[in-house]
Amino acid sequence: MWEEPCISGNKGSGAVFFSGCTLRCIFCQNYKISAENYGKTINAQRLADEFKKLESLGVHNINFVSPTPYTVEIIKALEIYKPKIPIVYNCSGYENTETIKALNGYVDIYLPDLKYSDNELAKSYSNAPNYVEIAKNAIAEMISQTGENLFDEIGMMKKGVIIRHLVLPSHTKNSIGVIDIIKENFPQALVSLMCQYIPMYKAKTHLKLSRKITLREYEKVKNYLFMSGLDGFVQELNSADEKYIPKWNYNE
Ligand code: SF4
Repeated sequence: MWEEPCISGNKGSGAVFFSGCTLRCIFCQNYKISAENYGKTINAQRLADEFKKLESLGVHNINFVSPTPYTVEIIKALEIYKPKIPIVYNCSGYENTETIKALNGYVDIYLPDLKYSDNELAKSYSNAPNYVEIAKNAIAEMISQTGENLFDEIGMMKKGVIIRHLVLPSHTKNSIGVIDIIKENFPQALVSLMCQYIPMYKAKTHLKLSRKITLREYEKVKNYLFMSGLDGFVQELNSADEKYIPKWNYNE
């Protein structure tokens, strides 16, 4: 229920979390699945069954979270069963353009992160020294596929791109650079500014990352976003709470 309003609506988004990630962020809140590969091995048929099951619960969309390492199997599953509700591709931004091209026609909404405007930070925090260029190219391909953002009569997104950015403590300059990149390259995209950062995983003991962001830091980035004229969403500062982090525990 805690995605952007046009994704969660009042019936929720049907999230499917995939183990692993294209990045290895030292502050990952879902490190158990992204870095430690917590999860269960299933095949494309079972994945298709899960889409069907989620759809039957009445959710607004099927939301793949960090899906990129499984693109081939996801396409197989969508060939078996393509839900009638939108498919959301929720990813780190660190995707090969060829991978995104392969998803053309299967995905309706892209929710990429744009984490960094500074490749030095991307290298230190996510082991991705060329993040900025890779993410810019991937997002350009996403936008060229979906075209203009499209919503239904109750404001739910049917098609389009929302670029997410999580503000990190001590790094407002990085966030301002990200807003500049979006304004210059993707002025038509919606921006989702996030402040839910909580020091987790290796960030707990990091000199700059071992605290939540301050109100002053968030206000600075928010004001810059408002001044930029970009459209989108801003999270409430009280979203930085562990209760919003899923607990990984299943038996099936
Ligand atoms: S991109 Fe997101 S899910 Fe992947 S490692 Fe970074 S914070 Fe975790």
